[in-house]
Amino acid sequence: GGLGVSLSQLLEPPPAPPDTLWRDAAALRRQPASDAMLVAPLFAYDAQVGFEVFELTLLPGYARLSEPHAAGVIEYVLVIAGEMEVWADGQWRALRPGQALRFAADREHGYRNAGAAPAVFHNVIHYPHAPAASR
Ligand code: MN
Repeated sequence: GGLGVSLSQLLEPPPAPPDTLWRDAAALRRQPASDAMLVAPLFAYDAQVGFEVFELTLLPGYARLSEPHAAGVIEYVLVIAGEMEVWADGQWRALRPGQALRFAADREHGYRNAGAAPAVFHNVIHYPHAPAASR
């Protein structure tokens, strides 16, 4: 069909509205690995919207480069507290509270906190294609 919409999509009922979820980062925050990062999974991956949302805390001295995600994955970083830097497009970019960055995450990227205070940010990871295949 036109506009990239298949006939079956047109015939299917619209998706059910999502359940309302109330989440508390303070109650969800964990240190899953030995490195200096705390993770609060605020909203797990939802195929209906194609993204997941974390609150991440980088303790002072944290620095890590990540492997590329699958093709087309986009990350958003929205800083809440502290100061941090994001490695994207081959350079470190400084961010402070109120500042945000969007970048293609299907290439090398990373985070670091060179300051003396924890850096806290929201991280939205958007997966563009089939949910199971895009992670
Ligand atoms: Mn990543």
